[in-house]
Amino acid sequence: MTKLDFVYEARASRVVFGAGHLAHLEREVLNLRSERALVLCSPEQVEMGKRIVERLGGRAAGLFDQATMHVPLELAEQARGIAREVNADCAVAVGGGSTIGLGKAIALTSDLPILAIPTTYAGSEMTPVYGITQAGIKRTGKDFRVMPKAVIYDPELTLSLPPAMSLTSGINAIAHAAEGLYAQDANPVMSLMAQEGIAALARSLPAIVRSPADIEARADALYGAWLCGTVLGNVGMALHHKLCHTLGGSFNLPHAQTHTIVLPHVLAYNRYAAPQAMERIARAIGAHDAATGLYALAQSNGAPVALKHIGMKQEDVEKAAQIATANPYWNPRPIDRDAIRALLQDAFDGVAPR
Ligand code: NAD
Repeated sequence: MTKLDFVYEARASRVVFGAGHLAHLEREVLNLRSERALVLCSPEQVEMGKRIVERLGGRAAGLFDQATMHVPLELAEQARGIAREVNADCAVAVGGGSTIGLGKAIALTSDLPILAIPTTYAGSEMTPVYGITQAGIKRTGKDFRVMPKAVIYDPELTLSLPPAMSLTSGINAIAHAAEGLYAQDANPVMSLMAQEGIAALARSLPAIVRSPADIEARADALYGAWLCGTVLGNVGMALHHKLCHTLGGSFNLPHAQTHTIVLPHVLAYNRYAAPQAMERIARAIGAHDAATGLYALAQSNGAPVALKHIGMKQEDVEKAAQIATANPYWNPRPIDRDAIRALLQDAFDGVAPR
C-alpha cells in the first residue's frame, strides 16, 4: 500500500457564484423545472425573503419566514404542511445553516428540490446532512435527497452579515476543512479544496472585520465557505465536530462561536497525530503552527476565545467531557477522556492552545 490510497466520488450539484448573481434566480428555478417555489427565511431576514418572492413574481408560491436554529420537528412539520398546501414544487432557502436546514427537513419527506442561497459561511448547502430537534434532542442523518440541487452564492447578500458573525462563521467553515484534511476517508481532491478554502478565509476574514463592505473580501470568504462546505459534505469529521455538536446540542451554545473557540484546542490535541494536515493548515493561514495560528486569527480580530464568555458554566465542562466521550468515534489521536476534559477546560478558560 502506498501513501496514496483513496476513494473519490464526484457528486453533481450546480453552483452559480458571483456578486449580483441573485439576478439569475428565475433561470435557476426554471432549471429545476419549477413553477411554484416556496421561499424560506428566518424572521430576522424577512426583508431578504420578500425580495426573493418579488423577484420570482408568478413563480413564487409563498413565503415561510419562521426558520430557527436546530430545526424543531414541529416547525419542520408546519413548513411541510405549507409546502403541500400551496402545492410547491421547489423550495428556495435564503439564509444561514438554520434556514437551509429547514429546507432539508422539507426535502426529506417530500423530495422537493431545494435551491439554496446561503448568506453565512456555515456550508450546509453543500452537504447531505440534516438535523431535526425533537424534545430537546437534535438527531442528525445523511440522505442525498436533502442536498440542494442548485446553489446561488452571491457575495452581495453577505454584506449585511455583521463583522463579528462573519468572523466566527468563517472560522466555522475553516473547521470543516481542517478536520477534512485529517479525515479517515480523506482524498487528494478534498484536501486541495480544504487548503484553498482555509487560505481564502484566513486572508479575507481580517479584511472583512476591518471593512465589512469590502465586496472582494466578501467574495473571497464566500468562495472559501463553498470549498470548506464541499469538504464537509464529502469526507468524515472527527473530534472537533463531535465536541461542538455536544456543546451546541446539550448546552445550547451558539454554533459559530463555539466552533471558533474549540477549534484551536482540538488542533493542539491532534497536533502530533496528523502532522501533514497541520502543516497544510499552518501554510494556509501563514502561521508556524495550526493551533496557535488559528487562535491568533480569532483573538486578534476580536472573536470570543473562552466558552465561559458565551454562556457555558464550569460544571458543564465535566458533563460535556462525559457526553462527548460516551460513544466511540474515529479521530487521528485516540479519544482520551481526561485529555478531552483538559481540552474543554482550556477552551472554557480561553487560554492559548497548548
Ligand atoms: P443561522 O442560520 O442560525 O443564522 C444566524 C443568524 O444570522 C440568523 O438570525 C440569521 O437570520 C442571521 N443571518 C444569516 N445571514 C445573514 C446576513 N447575510 N445578514 C444578516 N443576518 C444574517 O447560523 P449559521 O451559523 O449559518 O447556521 C447554524 C446552523 O446550521 C446550526 O444549526 C448548524 O447545526 C447548522 N449547520 C448544518 C450543516 C449541515 O451540513 N447540515 C452545516 C453547517 C451548519
